[in-house]
Amino acid sequence: MTERIQQFLAQRRQEGRDNGPCLVVDTDIIRENYNAFAKALPDTRVFYAVKANPEPKVLKLLADLGSCFDTASVQEIQMVLDAGATPDRMSFGNTIKKERDIARAYEMGIRLFAVDCVTEVEKIARAAPGSKVFCRILCDGEGAEWPLSRKFGCVPEMAPEVLERAHRLGLRAYGISFHVGSQQSNPKMWDAALRSSAQVFRELADRGIHLQMVNLGGGFPTKYLRDVPAVKAYGQAIFRSLRKHFGNRIPETIIEPGRGMVGNAGLIEAEVILISKKAESDTMRWVYLDIGKFNGLAETMDEMIRYPIRTDVDGDEMEPCIVAGPTCDSVDVLYEKTPYPLPVSLSIGAKVLIEGTGAYTTTYSSIAFNGLPPLETHVI
Ligand SMILES: *Cc1c(COP(=O)(O)O)cnc(C)c1O
Repeated sequence: MTERIQQFLAQRRQEGRDNGPCLVVDTDIIRENYNAFAKALPDTRVFYAVKANPEPKVLKLLADLGSCFDTASVQEIQMVLDAGATPDRMSFGNTIKKERDIARAYEMGIRLFAVDCVTEVEKIARAAPGSKVFCRILCDGEGAEWPLSRKFGCVPEMAPEVLERAHRLGLRAYGISFHVGSQQSNPKMWDAALRSSAQVFRELADRGIHLQMVNLGGGFPTKYLRDVPAVKAYGQAIFRSLRKHFGNRIPETIIEPGRGMVGNAGLIEAEVILISKKAESDTMRWVYLDIGKFNGLAETMDEMIRYPIRTDVDGDEMEPCIVAGPTCDSVDVLYEKTPYPLPVSLSIGAKVLIEGTGAYTTTYSSIAFNGLPPLETHVI
């Protein structure tokens, strides 16, 4: 926790406003992360993945720092425009778009679109003539804690056909994209995708179409319980793979960090509502928090993301607990398959701090399940 977040939470408590879970995002950390990306990948443009955290102040900060943006809907495009970035600094990176949304994005000035099949190319040719398109290829997501496989992308062998069609329909066949899976802890996982990308470049060059760009996607991790490699290690591994597969003709590159840009900038303060057992003989306690899967912690789905949970009594004896959220839905359990160690002396009413929650929390928070409001957020 940063000093600024600590001060903010102390003030909130003093003013008696601490009556629900709240996320605090420290913009100093986001600035550091942006600069670390720029330094680790100096020739690569950053397209921040807006869905990770679209708070206006976050978008404004990144726009002012010179970032570009990966958007997935007309609404996200509008949010980025409102933050002061021009449309030439945005991609419409969702491979699944309604044709009228493509037309609207085109009217708003967007000229860079993702595709992964011929039918999507045809929509773009009709609704956004002359635009640049990049083709997303499949990645198996191995090594990632939150995979983004199967649903997006085509097999690399199909990409030349998709991009050739784009070229023939008057679009600019611009490049290749992939996503190695979110929270990717292995910097070497970009290598296979870059090998496939280089093959697609060669195949199209043989057909007289010269691609220019490789979109390296997101996947850069944030620190939860386990340590993760620094962004510098990712930059080095990616550069080595680019050299290996593209030789002296290294293409233009972009990255789309979401989690790695904002994850560690956020901290949620929550409260223990109840601690109980289901039978006298039970050894396992249930700890119910006022935050769960429906008001911010959706990424605990299948216990994929394991957040650090801090308490005021962390030095005390620990025992594994089942941790659950506050709603009347039995799937609202955060950690049960792998119980979570919490202090025996933790008491009802105690505050807990959930770290690494700057990404994929507010956007996954429902608007009124059981009447609970969306996650209160402060960007400081
Ligand atoms: C979600 C998403 C990202 C961001 O991924 P992270 O793992 O959070 O960095 C990047 N690109 C695309 C196309 C995405 O859908």
